[in-house]
Amino acid sequence: MQLKTLGRTGVKVPEIGLGTWEFTGKPETLRRGVEIGASFIDTAEIYGTEDVVGKAISGIRQKVFLATKASPNHFKYDDLLMAAENSLRRLGTSTIDLYQLHWPSNDVPIRETMRAMEKLVKEGKIAHIGISNFSVQQTKEAQEALSRYEVVSNQVEYHLLDRSIESELIPFCERESITIVAYSPLARGSLAHPSIRNKRLSSVLESVRRTEGKTTAQVSLNWINSRENVVAIPKANSPEHVREDCEASGWHLSQKSFELIDEASKG
Ligand code: NAP
Repeated sequence: MQLKTLGRTGVKVPEIGLGTWEFTGKPETLRRGVEIGASFIDTAEIYGTEDVVGKAISGIRQKVFLATKASPNHFKYDDLLMAAENSLRRLGTSTIDLYQLHWPSNDVPIRETMRAMEKLVKEGKIAHIGISNFSVQQTKEAQEALSRYEVVSNQVEYHLLDRSIESELIPFCERESITIVAYSPLARGSLAHPSIRNKRLSSVLESVRRTEGKTTAQVSLNWINSRENVVAIPKANSPEHVREDCEASGWHLSQKSFELIDEASKG
């Protein structure tokens, strides 16, 4: 499994992690993923999967890079501290490695929320601060609201059927050393199946898959992970899919395959 550096932290995380939105698999499936290198597990207070993640990491906590998220209705100072405590309890751990603001709030000033985030870091309850679904401008505001620590990641939708973050957000995050955590990297499963809406991309993926001796899911994940500051967190309920997704790492598409996909997935 290829590792990448999280922000400017020096911490290494695997480029394929384990998403858990609508995860209905067993804790063993996540444990298996950790064993084979996908040690970055992503959850959120809103998913209802912190308990199953807690079960999965029990006894192997030190091997896992654990990420969860707070919802905007908990972005007031005291509410965020309480939300973190509740997540820690459900996860059965004393520290969250990456605590993310799930999406921007229109109601609570980012300064207030980040003050609580900084207290959580200072107390050792969280190790790193992340955001999710933040635009360039919102990311700048989040950075400016912090006085002692940095925003290390922005979790956003990114896959071959939606490359819109490539124009502004990715270049900005590259300059600022903010890791992009790509969510829905398989376009909610569409990219794992041969007949997606985009017929041109579908046929290119099919031909690249054959040439490279990989699956469409692997080719799709490998392509987005070709950027140094991107890691992906596909969700898979079955151990077979987890293994297949993990095997999207540790090799490179040929230049020709890369360009064919680039061309077919533009626009
Ligand atoms: P996704 O990972 O793009 O796709 C998940 C779907 O792909 C599932 O139906 C899964 O099937 C299927 N799949 C996975 N690996 C496969 C394989 N090798 N072959 C065939 N099918 C495969 O979509 P997602 O769940 O929306 O996104 C992933 C994670 O991103 C979430 O779980 C969550 O952690 C995060 N997320 C974050 C936000 C946010 O706002 N921050 C929003 C959405 C998602 P099975 O489950 O049957 O294996």
